[in-house]
Amino acid sequence: MQDIFAAPQQFGPGFLESAPVLAYHSDQFVLPLPPGHSFPMSKYRLLREAAEATLPDVRVAQAVAASDGELALAHEPAWIDAVAGGTLSAAQQREIGFPWSERMVERSRRSVGATVCAARAALFGGEGVAANLAGGTHHAYAHKGSGYCVFNDVAVAARLMQAEWHRDRHGRSGPARLLRAIVIDLDVHQGNGTAAIFRDDPSVFTLSLHGAHNFPFRKEPSDIDVDLPDGCGDADYLGALDIALNAAWARHGDELPGLAFYLAGADPHEDDRLGRLKLSAAGLAERDRRVLAALRERGIAVALSMAGGYGRDIHTTVAVQRRTLQEALASWRAWPQRQALTAVKESGS
Ligand SMILES: [Zn+2]
Repeated sequence: MQDIFAAPQQFGPGFLESAPVLAYHSDQFVLPLPPGHSFPMSKYRLLREAAEATLPDVRVAQAVAASDGELALAHEPAWIDAVAGGTLSAAQQREIGFPWSERMVERSRRSVGATVCAARAALFGGEGVAANLAGGTHHAYAHKGSGYCVFNDVAVAARLMQAEWHRDRHGRSGPARLLRAIVIDLDVHQGNGTAAIFRDDPSVFTLSLHGAHNFPFRKEPSDIDVDLPDGCGDADYLGALDIALNAAWARHGDELPGLAFYLAGADPHEDDRLGRLKLSAAGLAERDRRVLAALRERGIAVALSMAGGYGRDIHTTVAVQRRTLQEALASWRAWPQRQALTAVKESGS
């Protein structure tokens, strides 16, 4: 478990009292893209720089790379080998949308690693809330990549956290209880890869709100899917979100998840090139607040991934994602266990 922990000094004495929301990045691993390629690769670096400049309480750390064994928790070995070994066919590369390179492999491993680090900090580090400044690669299936997604960060992290949870809890007070997880996927595109990976796994609940007429055009059934019409605005979106979240909690009954993955896509924004919805920046901030509050009220630790964002002006996307981090920071500050820690510290004990 220690091998992919972030820098050990982060977890030294005093860590819990002083550490802010942890955000993990992998933006120095930039893909070489052909001229004219439309993927906004620089958004990851811009988001980290914006976070460092304007949210000093959000400490940013570099993610470690996910190993083949960790990837194999959610991916078929043949897919991992084809990516790692550079034997992807032209069709497979086209479906991903990126040409293969060594850097693509490294970046994909780091992006998964960043979600793993965030989930671990949120769940085992006692933070309650932590983030990956990239990730949310929800179009990746067990056996193939798609739509700019090579490996499915959330699927790997969910399975790895379940394994670590079992190992950590086993024998403490009888048999370990299964760690349930929920994926709240609010990227504007449906989380088809994630839904397919967990279709027959009741321990991971999948919820997706997405544009009905957007990619992927062949959607996979999640536990809850909400298809939104083109042009959907703040009020309709937030109303649908409330209904979907309440339905998710109702479906869980007394057995709430212990861990959530929140894909806080910026692509439902009205100025997104690909989104087709009409959410304002204020509407997206309210979306983030509602999700984070719902999780905090239930004591469900959450790892955020930034997921998609293709603003006509890249700075619009970065501003939306920076705001998501700001909301995450507010939720981290209000995290109940953290308040208890602060109270202990302030009382001098
Ligand atoms: Zn998207």
